[in-house]
Amino acid sequence: MEHTKCLIIGSGPAGYTAAIYAGRANLEPIEYCGLQMGGQLTTTTTVENFPGYPQGVDGNQMMADLQEQARRFGTDVRDGIITEIDLSKAPYVATTDRGDKIEADTVIVATGASAKYLGLPDEQKYMGQGVSACATCDGFFYRKKTVAVVGGGDTACEEAIYLAGLCQKVYLLVRKPYLRASEVMKKRVANNPKIEILYEHNALGLYGDNGVEGAHVVYRKGEADERKYDLAIDGFFLAIGHKPNTDIFKGQLDMDEVGYIKVQGDTPRTSVAGVFAAGDCADPTYRQAVVAAGSGCKAALEAERYLNQ
Ligand code: NDP
Repeated sequence: MEHTKCLIIGSGPAGYTAAIYAGRANLEPIEYCGLQMGGQLTTTTTVENFPGYPQGVDGNQMMADLQEQARRFGTDVRDGIITEIDLSKAPYVATTDRGDKIEADTVIVATGASAKYLGLPDEQKYMGQGVSACATCDGFFYRKKTVAVVGGGDTACEEAIYLAGLCQKVYLLVRKPYLRASEVMKKRVANNPKIEILYEHNALGLYGDNGVEGAHVVYRKGEADERKYDLAIDGFFLAIGHKPNTDIFKGQLDMDEVGYIKVQGDTPRTSVAGVFAAGDCADPTYRQAVVAAGSGCKAALEAERYLNQ
């Protein structure tokens, strides 16, 4: 069985930063990139809030640069997924999607989070045929068309603005009477003539014979003036938050009720010695690339200290 001093699972800002630090500490880390190499930032447009980029940076470019930096310091960056892991005793044994087994003295979990869906059966029915959770991945298919984005946070605003650059019209379906997004995002959405905000709206379902042709929506659900109607759209984009990718650690690492890995205080230490968590999989609060990168750094430093002990 292959052996490593440090196995890193995940390739977002947390995973790559951990890889840079672990590599520079001569831990010769192996990093498995997961389903979406580069993580969530590869599905965003310009990253404007990562320090050091006064003009912003393309999310894909940033992740490619981080990967190159991780490789430069000796990280074995691999395309693949860890599908199982046994954390019952050290060294820990991970199994890849190809069935390979890797024994690891330390594990850095940086598996991030994935987009949430509303749970409507129609989301499954029209997946890839009008339903998407990534405007930058799929927006291109809706040029000059009409789309709806669900959500009222920064992601929803960012997606709506991106789509407004391609589409003829963008509805923003917000379940509350206000946006939760930051002030700068609220202003950009309000100033975009192609975006119409539909407050107090929920989607009930989708319809269409050839992909999505519209959404069944309800205004002021449960109120005296509730109104149900159909909104003609070609695309339905979800932007309602994320779920941590921690299923393979269930029952092995302490987690909160949503599935975020619990860490000890402001350290990345988990409930298992030698296993550290970094980035969005352990951060229900901030969920920012720069915070993820910082926690990846801490995880690698902790792994090094643990091995030295
Ligand atoms: P948020 O959790 O901030 O927002 C989720 C939005 O989806 C809320 O408006 C919420 O409504 C709505 N929502 C949740 N569930 C449902 C549902 N079942 N039906 C309808 N609406 C629903 O997630 P984001 O992904 O927007 O942002 C996550 C973090 O990332 C935030 O801290 C954000 O600031 C940050 N971010 C920063 C960016 C930037 O600065 N460039 C870009 C993107 C994200 P409600 O308000 O009613 O709960």
